Amino acid sequence: MKDQGMTSIPSSSSSPKATSASKASSTGEQGDISLPPLDIYLCAPRGFCAGVDRAIQIVELALATYGAPVYVRHEIVHNKFVVEGLKAKGAIFVEELDEVPQTEQPVIFSAHGVPKSVPAAAEAKNFFYLDATCPLVSKVHKEAILHDKRGHEIVLIGHAGHPEVIGTMGQLADNVVKLIETVEDVAKLQPDNPDNLAWITQTTLSLDDTADIIMALKERFPSIKGPNKDDICYATTNRQEAVKFVAPKADVMLVVGAPNSSNSKRLREVGERAGCKQSLLLQRASEINWEQLGEISSVAITAGASAPEVLVEEVINAFAQRYKVKMEVVVTAKEDIIFNIPRELREAAIAAGVLEARPIAEATA
Ligand code: SF4
Repeated sequence: MKDQGMTSIPSSSSSPKATSASKASSTGEQGDISLPPLDIYLCAPRGFCAGVDRAIQIVELALATYGAPVYVRHEIVHNKFVVEGLKAKGAIFVEELDEVPQTEQPVIFSAHGVPKSVPAAAEAKNFFYLDATCPLVSKVHKEAILHDKRGHEIVLIGHAGHPEVIGTMGQLADNVVKLIETVEDVAKLQPDNPDNLAWITQTTLSLDDTADIIMALKERFPSIKGPNKDDICYATTNRQEAVKFVAPKADVMLVVGAPNSSNSKRLREVGERAGCKQSLLLQRASEINWEQLGEISSVAITAGASAPEVLVEEVINAFAQRYKVKMEVVVTAKEDIIFNIPRELREAAIAAGVLEARPIAEATA
């Protein structure tokens, strides 16, 4: 994907010092004075990442350029609200290409990435396809292919069954990539040559769990090769660091996100491990169990990388109906990454007059 890249680098070093020095960028109050007081700590960054933003943009731009329907294989990102919104605009979601009729309309692959067999099948069916795989997932695919070319046995740290894991494992022949999920799995590994191993990771894992697994791998296989740190993406890293910072201050940690969103589930776990008494994952304000919350005086709120801001606002508004809310935005990192959309779509959209011609940033990812 030569035409996809970061247009700038985020200040996402996430060092604890930088994190604690840059909190509370803005405050505000709302609500009735007779209501009980509640502090809301709103994590920043939260919600959409550059990969999700790009994937949604690809579907919307394809609809505007080629008209409805466009076919999308798997949820473009793991969020029902986003998927329903795109369905209303004319996107048809399928799980497999077999469900797509013979068509000249675009078929779009989701941000999670796909095994090599999927574009191959699309080509065999003469489909016009657009790949919305996040460039940071594509980067892991390239690492896997490179390790294989160099003859390394590859260990992938990830969650079985997640579409990203299926896509990454599917870059190579069956059984070439060995999946491990826990530190215990490291002890069970039976490589052909313990001195010729390499590891890669899913992009949306728990930072702490993954660090433990990598440590166990390095202890058992000292010559194992891998990236400098891990393949966990900047968005996952920044959102987890923000939760680690705010969760201990709050009675409740609320993560707005889908139950099948890996990065959202990890945020809930991070909140729990950071010492928050209640760390909850919910999709929308209507899922808040007010009775279960009990007597609280503070709530921390974040959102997974596929959850739109409108759902965060909905949750804040729900609290503002019941409490006199004092809100503090807690900024732990700044993000300014943008990924370019595929060249083919961009050029077609410009030709169709639905996108303004602008210079494209040099690809760096
Ligand atoms: S969470 Fe990370 S890897 Fe996944 S789409 Fe967002 S930036 Fe890409």
